[in-house]
Amino acid sequence: MHEKKQVGTLYMNDFQTKREFAALFSQNMNRHQPMNLYFLNDHGFNIAQKDPEYNEVLNRADYLLNDGIGIKLGAKLWGIRLRENLNGTDLIPVLLDQCARNHWSVYLLGAAPKVVRAAAQKLSEKHTHLHIAGIHDGYFDSDEQIIAEINQSGADVLLVGMGMPLQEKFIDRNTHALAPLVRIAVGGFFDFASETKPRAPKLMRRLNLEWLFRMALEPQRMWKRNVVGHAQFFAKVLWLKWSSRH
Ligand code: UDP
Repeated sequence: MHEKKQVGTLYMNDFQTKREFAALFSQNMNRHQPMNLYFLNDHGFNIAQKDPEYNEVLNRADYLLNDGIGIKLGAKLWGIRLRENLNGTDLIPVLLDQCARNHWSVYLLGAAPKVVRAAAQKLSEKHTHLHIAGIHDGYFDSDEQIIAEINQSGADVLLVGMGMPLQEKFIDRNTHALAPLVRIAVGGFFDFASETKPRAPKLMRRLNLEWLFRMALEPQRMWKRNVVGHAQFFAKVLWLKWSSRH
């Protein structure tokens, strides 16, 4: 396991490129090493400050990768240099290509029924030979029934797209019951993969402005998360850094 580095109350990884993490993913799969993989952005960091249980869940991740410009700058304040943005929406397709090539099957759990169905369709078209072992929407009452379905599917990799903090908590509390070797919390990935929601143009993504694009699409939901959330995040990261020194 790679050593994690402290950013305030959380411990995260500092892989520099998607390629570097993808190599480790394959290596772990080949060695049958189980892993829970989550992504940290400033919204998740803010939730963790108010929800100590979620903070612990994130710290139990085998890998916690950086998502977005906020966490990159916040990490820098704690002396951690991060190069590429490893957000799920860009990294998952790289991992799915590896799954297709190595015949590792995938289960999709999350989003509304028609969104996850469309996501499965589009992903099978995009990643030739990808075996999708099963799908289920993210609105259910009983963990047991879903876990039984996932395990019966024989999937090697489980993608859980139910938003923060629900998805990470689902994975964490069911770690020992879930048969897939790898469980990844993928946020809104199925919304994008199904093309239900458009992604920001490449240039905006390269300039780390995807958050601005998402805010233009969903101003009411994203305004608070982005503008107020970014301010809260930096205030907290700076405060934690200052108090750790005094
Ligand atoms: N979702 C779900 N079950 C729930 C609540 C949400 O499957 O009980 C799905 C929702 O349909 C959407 C995703 O979770 O596809 C949340 O996406 P969001 O962009 O909010 O993820 P975040 O950035 O919060 O991780």
